[in-house]
Amino acid sequence: MKLLRYGPVGQEKPGLLDHDGAIRDLSQHIADIGPDALAPAELARLAALDPASLPKVSGSPRVGLPVAGIRKFIAIGLNYADHAAEAGLPLPTEPVVFTKAISCLSGPNDPVMLPKDSKKGDWEVELGIFMGRTARYVSEAGALDHVAGYALVNDVSERELQMERGGTWDKGKGFDTAGPVGPWLVTADEVGDPQTLSMWLDVNGNRMQAGTTATMIFNVRQIVSYVSRHITLWPGDLICTGTPPGVGMGKKPQPVFLKTGDVMTLGMDKLGTQRQEVVAWSV
Ligand code: ZN
Repeated sequence: MKLLRYGPVGQEKPGLLDHDGAIRDLSQHIADIGPDALAPAELARLAALDPASLPKVSGSPRVGLPVAGIRKFIAIGLNYADHAAEAGLPLPTEPVVFTKAISCLSGPNDPVMLPKDSKKGDWEVELGIFMGRTARYVSEAGALDHVAGYALVNDVSERELQMERGGTWDKGKGFDTAGPVGPWLVTADEVGDPQTLSMWLDVNGNRMQAGTTATMIFNVRQIVSYVSRHITLWPGDLICTGTPPGVGMGKKPQPVFLKTGDVMTLGMDKLGTQRQEVVAWSV
């Protein structure tokens, strides 16, 4: 099942994508797709609905975040060996955990606004994990039982703010619009094995990243178990799991960074695609 939220910013309605790729309105069956909707019993209730019985949404509305009211957005850094190498950083012996501010979350096709005076905007296509149940000290064997589904994430980054301005990475990872998510939450049963998903990212139509979740250093089970030993995970929490090589800071002979007018397109098997135009800061 593919769950989504559609409509203008702040007025999104719950929906699901039917087998023909049409949006069906879920408003009569659930107020919104928030953390509570990701509980196993709620997902089962929605999955039992016949999509053909739901009102078909006409036109091509904006698609927003697939989950409302996300309370934590955690990220794993350097989770692909070849990406760690291009970043010039040693291979982690434990998952590198950082947070993305929830105020950075945005729709999958909303513009990305670089911070004022940004010089080093960059891209990172990633698998996102949506939690369905509270996870605290869960085992690797039991980790996937706590996952509601998956979504495509662009872990948009500003490398100067991340790495050259002191402190932790968070201010280069948490500016408004640095977290496009979606278009859908695809439930775990439909995704199957999360370690077999190919992904790609283009800038202005040029292929920058190509990879697969098969080459993660720490897999989804390990990540969920590891994070849950340090930070309690709640339903609706989102974890992005690191990016394969091909980010702008790793390009040779010199790095390539985002500029106003650039267009990022990205996608992953089973999880759909995103498109973001880069715009100047305008708040
Ligand atoms: Zn990342």
